[in-house]
Amino acid sequence: MNPTQTKYIFVTGGVTSSLGKGIIAASLAKLLQARGYRTTIQKFDPYINVDPGTLNPYEHGECFVTDDGAETDLDLGHYERFLNVPTSQANNVTTGRVYLSVIEKERRGEFLGKTVQVVPHITNEIKERMQLLGKSGDFDIVITEIGGTVGDIESLPYIESVRQLVWELGENNSIVIHLTLVPFLAAAGELKTKPTQHSVKTLMESGIKADILVCRTEHELSDELRQKLALFCNVKREAVIQSIDASTIYEVPNLMLEEGLDIVALKKLNLPKKAAPDLKTWNTFLHRLKHPKQTVNVGLVGKYVELQDSYKSILEAFIHAGAANQTKVNVISIHSEYLDEANAAEQLQGLDGILVAPGFGGRGIEGKIETVRYARENNIPFFGICLGMQMAVIEYARTVLGLKDANSTEMNEETKHPVISLMEEQKTITDKGGTMRLGSWKCDLTEGSLAKEIYGKSQIQERHRHRYEFNNEYRKQLETAGLKASGVNPDTGLVEIIELEKHPFFIGVQYHPEYKSTVANPHPIFVSFVAAMVKHKK
Ligand code: GLN
Repeated sequence: MNPTQTKYIFVTGGVTSSLGKGIIAASLAKLLQARGYRTTIQKFDPYINVDPGTLNPYEHGECFVTDDGAETDLDLGHYERFLNVPTSQANNVTTGRVYLSVIEKERRGEFLGKTVQVVPHITNEIKERMQLLGKSGDFDIVITEIGGTVGDIESLPYIESVRQLVWELGENNSIVIHLTLVPFLAAAGELKTKPTQHSVKTLMESGIKADILVCRTEHELSDELRQKLALFCNVKREAVIQSIDASTIYEVPNLMLEEGLDIVALKKLNLPKKAAPDLKTWNTFLHRLKHPKQTVNVGLVGKYVELQDSYKSILEAFIHAGAANQTKVNVISIHSEYLDEANAAEQLQGLDGILVAPGFGGRGIEGKIETVRYARENNIPFFGICLGMQMAVIEYARTVLGLKDANSTEMNEETKHPVISLMEEQKTITDKGGTMRLGSWKCDLTEGSLAKEIYGKSQIQERHRHRYEFNNEYRKQLETAGLKASGVNPDTGLVEIIELEKHPFFIGVQYHPEYKSTVANPHPIFVSFVAAMVKHKK
């Protein structure tokens, strides 16, 4: 065996979805990283969309964007927030992407007349992609999360690929962690192991033996119950790990440490424990998070507020920034569709700050514009992200410049005053998938601006996901009237940040700062925004 070989950990899920495979994967990765192993996590999703970029947020939650412009599953956000290492397109693969690539190869004649089949062509493509990051030489350990639940028709090719890879990689080079649910039956007053036993059996029918069981539970698992699970699921007693409900996901790495998940994994991979995990920064963050000195209320105004996952990264960024300020940030969701001039004051009263969320399409935008006006006129700290920034520009053009029908051409193509419009190169694009301005772009900050003060440097790089832009034809007029462009792309001249001088805190950004906020590096705008809210409250 090659001692420098990358080791692979596969994480599968059973019994039900939503058990938090992503959090378990990220927590284990955190512990391995904290022991000194270069670790990354990738997710293989069983749906046929090529990426989640075309999925409605109600269907699949937020679409997370990486530096290289990949539109990915929101679990990649957790990976980055936990590990503080950027992910990329290679970290997220869907069935759609796998098939697209195999079909393109077939069209190019690369299979030399062979019948193209799920096994071996699809499974080979999956295996190749599963090892892509491992072969880069950048990682000691690659954790692969398999989306879905074992037994699903959709995930079969992934399960078969894992089976083959485990066999090909050989002893001690890979392990399989299976996450299941141990439900508590209130009527019987008992925790039940049968669903886990069945789930492990289903996995076994596909030729995969789980090495470690992580059992999600609402109550402590007794020693007796762990013994039983070990015996019937064919794993060692020490490999039965309890994952008890936690008050915050950020607690899970410590819980896994107590359960010894990292040690069991390392042992099975034949890797040394190295040093005890260095979790100093992590635990400082946790301490601050759990001991807030004050609370602020922020209004999150958007149209996808029914589903918490739609704004996942924003909510997490508030948790990071809250801890940085030792402040509990109470996020109050406000539906922009039901907000208007008549009820704005009532709906937005008592807030210490207002964030207008990203979004697409015309539904709910008048409520967002009204919200901006309320925050601007009442000196309430304001933060607009992407569509939120565009709404701030429209509001200023309408109210202050008096351009009554100012709009974005996304909402009204015929508007007389397209203060937000499409770039030339976007005008001919008809495909929806992967064609927005995506990924990391440079931005120069204006000397003396709030943006420059917040970031403390002159040039930044932030991630984008939008089609429409600030229309520079209106820049002079808006700036003269007090709405300043304080961040501009040095190569294209596109305005990326706007701010108001005569306001305690008013900033709008065309990019998505929330994607870059991590436990180790809370995003500076979120940190300053929370600080402004604390000040506003006093
Ligand atoms: N719909 C807007 C655009 O495409 C804003 C996108 C967003 O908020 N992410 O430009």
